Amino acid sequence: MHNSLNNLIEIQKEIQLKINELNNSIKIPQIIAVTKTHPMSNILPLIKHGHLDFGENKVQEAIVKWQDIKKTFPNLNLHMIGKLQSNKVKHAISLFDYIHSLDNEKLANKIALEQAKQDKKPKIFIQVNLENEDQKAGINRSELHDFYKFCKNLKLNIIGTMCIPPNTSEGNDYFLEMNKINQELNFKDLSMGMSGDYLNAIKNNTTYVRIGSKIFGNRA
Ligand SMILES: *Cc1c(COP(=O)(O)O)cnc(C)c1O
Repeated sequence: MHNSLNNLIEIQKEIQLKINELNNSIKIPQIIAVTKTHPMSNILPLIKHGHLDFGENKVQEAIVKWQDIKKTFPNLNLHMIGKLQSNKVKHAISLFDYIHSLDNEKLANKIALEQAKQDKKPKIFIQVNLENEDQKAGINRSELHDFYKFCKNLKLNIIGTMCIPPNTSEGNDYFLEMNKINQELNFKDLSMGMSGDYLNAIKNNTTYVRIGSKIFGNRA
């Protein structure tokens, strides 16, 4: 078996065990296999195994890697997890099924225009910056409710919030707080947890974990 597929299966088993141990009512989260920088030869074993959800962080790289494969495997779900520039929205809407990184009005306006033009509605997460870290993308907590209202008025299909906690934390408190916010807003979906902290995210009811290096190895 290919290494990447073996890793994915081990992670799935580990997650199932963790859920059995914690609380069987926790929903098994969807694993987004984050494929940025990795070649299709390492990704295909997962696709052939039937894995459906994959994440990229750059539009251009995603087009080159995924445009044709998606035609061959139309059930694949492609997730845009990186910063999205407004001038790339047209391509992003045509290729991606999910956008995890909505965090400003200009981008929201552009997505609204483009989804109407293409008659295609991606599922969208609002990226949240809980600790107001300057260098980091995301909507500050104090602006989140207004921003969500703004997006709803534009008829965007917002399904949840997404975060990337500071790498100094293992995520626990941060994830706890995100879960609370997500419930306040009545969202069903939550995108948090990466290779180093996904078990903590699962404890806090995440529904999508985004895992790269633990499946595919370190990025060059
Ligand atoms: C790269 C990336 C991931 C995956 O990171 P790993 O630590 O390799 O699992 C998850 N989320 C985002 C937004 C990323 O850019």
